[in-house]
Amino acid sequence: MSSNAQKTAIKPSDAKSWTLCARRTWFDNYPPEGMIAEPDPFEQLIIDQGLAHEQAVLESLSQDKTVETAKSPEHTKQLMDAGIDVIYQAQLFDENTGIVGYPDFLLRHESGKYQPADAKLARSAEDKKEIKVQLGLYRRLLGTSLPGLVFLGNGEIQEIDDTVNPLVNEFITEMSMILESDEPPLVRYSHSKCKACPYFSICRPDFIEKDEITLIYGIDSRSAHHLEEKGISSVHGLSECDPASIPDVPYLKGFEKKRKAVFQAKSWLTGEVFKLSDFELPEGTWIHFDVEDNPLEPSGNKHVYLWGFLKPDYGANEFEYSWTDTMEEDRKGWDGFLSLIEKYKSEHSDLIIAHYSNHEVTTIKQYAERYDMFGHPIVEWLLGEETPLYDMQKPVLQNLVLPLQGYGLKDICKHKDLVNFQWEDETSGSQWSIVQFNEFQQEQDAGKREALKNAILGYNRDDVLATRKLEEWLRSMNAIS
Ligand code: SF4
Repeated sequence: MSSNAQKTAIKPSDAKSWTLCARRTWFDNYPPEGMIAEPDPFEQLIIDQGLAHEQAVLESLSQDKTVETAKSPEHTKQLMDAGIDVIYQAQLFDENTGIVGYPDFLLRHESGKYQPADAKLARSAEDKKEIKVQLGLYRRLLGTSLPGLVFLGNGEIQEIDDTVNPLVNEFITEMSMILESDEPPLVRYSHSKCKACPYFSICRPDFIEKDEITLIYGIDSRSAHHLEEKGISSVHGLSECDPASIPDVPYLKGFEKKRKAVFQAKSWLTGEVFKLSDFELPEGTWIHFDVEDNPLEPSGNKHVYLWGFLKPDYGANEFEYSWTDTMEEDRKGWDGFLSLIEKYKSEHSDLIIAHYSNHEVTTIKQYAERYDMFGHPIVEWLLGEETPLYDMQKPVLQNLVLPLQGYGLKDICKHKDLVNFQWEDETSGSQWSIVQFNEFQQEQDAGKREALKNAILGYNRDDVLATRKLEEWLRSMNAIS
């Protein structure tokens, strides 16, 4: 056994990192010198909401039951021996396996045995491996066949039973290997996971030095090792390939995909922009559109608090919107959105409502369903064959290869050699907006509320200004043959 194996125990709380990245899990347990990963404001908001949910569950469990808070593993055992109904913040430890666990609650079953329970904001544990592992491990630490309980954010209670045992075994085996290693494990780059990871600045230089092929948009761990087997193991190697000579491998099949991958590698290395084909943007009067929504709304329903538009002549003063302070006013915000669309339709017979990615269309469908309004004439028009909605991400993805690792609006617009549009508040973003909105809702001072609202409006206004700048940039790109 190496020295690391003696330093730290397997914890159910490692399950979240484990589902994301083995290397991240290692860093969590052996933090790089001088670096403790602090939660960012969005993560902190989720933590705070999770604690509020836990307290609400505790309150409801406490009614007509005995409740005690555990101070240590020994104290937990004493409380169990005393038959306390609800043991809050229980502490479990197995000397043989070195596993420690802190379930939110131990609940005394009518059989006299205890079952573990956690309060989670999630609306289902079905696709949440980390929840299954945590509850499965608590059950194992307790040595119980009773199911673990998850008090979900929507008020439902889900049971975790023996079916999660294989997943728990996998977690224990892999965690033992991770924790015994004196070096962080070698893993593939994953843009979606790495860009949001606190250890990004540590890992990124290593990936670049290695010329890691998964740095390239469109190549991920599912195809990378198959490419390696065929002798294509680096970004440089890929950039020098003839696309027609690359064999089909999982997730990289067909000439077009391979051609794009080779251009993407060249673009990453040189910064060059590749136009694969000419394209047409629809003609008409363009109005730019973007929504801000709160996925952390306590009711569990997404609340779009801001439906924003930029109309001609596209100056900052041409920003219009429908806003609501709370979920209770949600319908008012949706109606305001439909009224604005109706107004634009009457003003412009050639209306194009431009947005970036399919999020806006998905949101309109969700709201049409929520308020049973698929038969509303404006909704029918928006979702019908003659729709004025136009997703600007499509011409980008279909026709251009850019020196980027992701094709989000901000990736393209902020890039100095591409659109080069900078948001007024450079710290802003969609998660930032959610944090500001939650602060706005909590804030009692009218002046501070107004300032927070103005900051959110400014961010959304910049989003639609950005899509307008992107439109101009795409038109200029199309002028180049
Ligand atoms: S930056 Fe990526 S590879 Fe590194 S620890 Fe984070 S998720 Fe894992």
